[in-house]
Amino acid sequence: RIMGIVKAKDLTFEYIRRDEEGNVEGITTAVDHVNMDIQPGEFIAILGHNGSGKSTFAKHINALLFPTEGTILVDGLDTSDEDNVMDVRQRAGMVFQNPDNQIICTLVEEEVGFGPENIGVPTEEIWERVAASLKAVGMYQYRKASPNKLSGGQKQRVAIVAMKPKCIILDEPTAMLDPHGRADVMRVLHELNRKEGVTVILITHYMEEVIDADRVFVMDEGKVVMEGTPRQIFSRVEELKQLRLDVPQVTELAYELSRSGVPIRSGILTNQELIDELMKLK
Ligand code: ADP
Ligand code: MG
Repeated sequence: RIMGIVKAKDLTFEYIRRDEEGNVEGITTAVDHVNMDIQPGEFIAILGHNGSGKSTFAKHINALLFPTEGTILVDGLDTSDEDNVMDVRQRAGMVFQNPDNQIICTLVEEEVGFGPENIGVPTEEIWERVAASLKAVGMYQYRKASPNKLSGGQKQRVAIVAMKPKCIILDEPTAMLDPHGRADVMRVLHELNRKEGVTVILITHYMEEVIDADRVFVMDEGKVVMEGTPRQIFSRVEELKQLRLDVPQVTELAYELSRSGVPIRSGILTNQELIDELMKLK
């Protein structure tokens, strides 16, 4: 078995609120004894309603927050060790909902070159990589453009290729994008995952973005309450509803048909699967 790229062991994080005198006013346990072992090259989706601890967990992978209890290893490096912070951030890059605060260079080309340059790659090779990366995400024609002129989806794509880490964590990256922009970002993520073996950890509210993941974790009140393949997870419609989560539209429809007595198997994920099931009934 390969060493996990992200390994959380009993990871617990408490936000502590203090009054002006510094006395503790309240404690929120945002992440509560989470265990996760993510293998290199996996495409992981994390689901959970607002306040379930997803963002707090994600920030640990990028060494933006440190465990109150338990440990998190990124590529074998303990993030709590100060000496590891830079290495951790090189291996695990984070894409935020609003990429504006991430895009710092003036040209798209420079932006994409910025990542590898920082980790000691010769200049000619950087520009070769920049061209290749921009082509890979369909952004080559924008190489001389100012990132400020790009749409939200285009910015996300640049932010993603600019990092080129072993592991990308995306915290609801498509929440502010239109369906077209969302599809573009998802295509880039799957390409990076398939072709370059980049581990993807995607936090999302869009169930359609979860279907193609290798594994899904569902969080509630700081805990991992469900774990499995998309098909296993979306077979548990009632539990998901109790956790205030949706299922993909076609999964819901298949579930309702089945509840009304139509003999259809659980965990339908695509239109084609539902069609196949219905055709068997003829
Ligand atoms: P999610 O990303 O799933 O919506 P969060 O990780 O943002 O969940 O929040 C988990 C819990 O921690 C919530 O109860 C939230 O109110 C609390 N929380 C988040 N950020 C802070 C903060 N900076 N200070 C205090 N409490 C916070
Ligand atoms: Mg969040």
